[in-house]
Amino acid sequence: MSVNLPSPLFGAVEAGGTKFVCAVGRGPDDLPAVTRFPTTTPEETLARTLAFFREQPTTPVAVGVGSFGPVDPDPHSPTYGHITLTPKPRWSNVDVAGALREGLGVPVAFDTDVNAAGLGEHRWGAAQGLDTFLYLTVGTGIGGGGLAGGRPMHGLVHPEMGHIFVPRAPGDTFAGACPFHGDCLEGMASGSALEARWGRPAAELPADDPAWPLEAHYLAYGIANFILTLSPQRIIVGGGVMRRPRLLPMIRQKVKTILNGYVKAPTFDDLDAYLVPPALGDRAGVLGALAMAQELA
Ligand code: ZN
Repeated sequence: MSVNLPSPLFGAVEAGGTKFVCAVGRGPDDLPAVTRFPTTTPEETLARTLAFFREQPTTPVAVGVGSFGPVDPDPHSPTYGHITLTPKPRWSNVDVAGALREGLGVPVAFDTDVNAAGLGEHRWGAAQGLDTFLYLTVGTGIGGGGLAGGRPMHGLVHPEMGHIFVPRAPGDTFAGACPFHGDCLEGMASGSALEARWGRPAAELPADDPAWPLEAHYLAYGIANFILTLSPQRIIVGGGVMRRPRLLPMIRQKVKTILNGYVKAPTFDDLDAYLVPPALGDRAGVLGALAMAQELA
């Protein structure tokens, strides 16, 4: 007599620089437990993560982690699953994947937070069925991840798309907020850069503030460069700064102006369908980590 066994539970960790999101489940409509807590010391934060999974009725069969970085996502490297050299105090060289693998006794998949979010959008969101696309997040920092040829892009280490160099807007004398490069894209257009430049958080800037056309300028140049170098079939743009409803339409307009008709493809005619917000919203990262766990199992 055959018995229908319940399908296994998977674990997911979105390891962000300011907060961790942990979940168990099987998909967007099946997440029986989700928790969030602030990212403090590595010891405390990883202990809370382990405690969350241990208190579930059944242990997940595999866990996926999408982490802030830089990270080592190479499974053949001795430091696979580590956060490497990060400006975030005390988090450099922390073995995130190892702590979970040893603490739970299950396999752990590990990648950047933006690659995880890209995988989530590919599995369940705005990039379903696409071969090559880009997921870009504009929050405290700027990061890009996605798939090329159906696989997350890694290369030498992993892309650092937030740190590309973009032309300054005419007359803009802001030095930039990136501790490594000054006026790279992240240094000019991240949430931290907006706060450093305008003296208050992006969320407090009025809708008609001159900050927004300037923000669209920098993000549009970044996106135009990604279109020209990666030729993605779609670009998903998420993150806290993008919650401003008028920003994405301004970016689309500016991207059109910058590219000046040079890139031609049927799906590229309508940028409303090409440059899109994440279909999974704030859950792209944690759901992508879940997808990574499922692929591993
Ligand atoms: Zn930079």
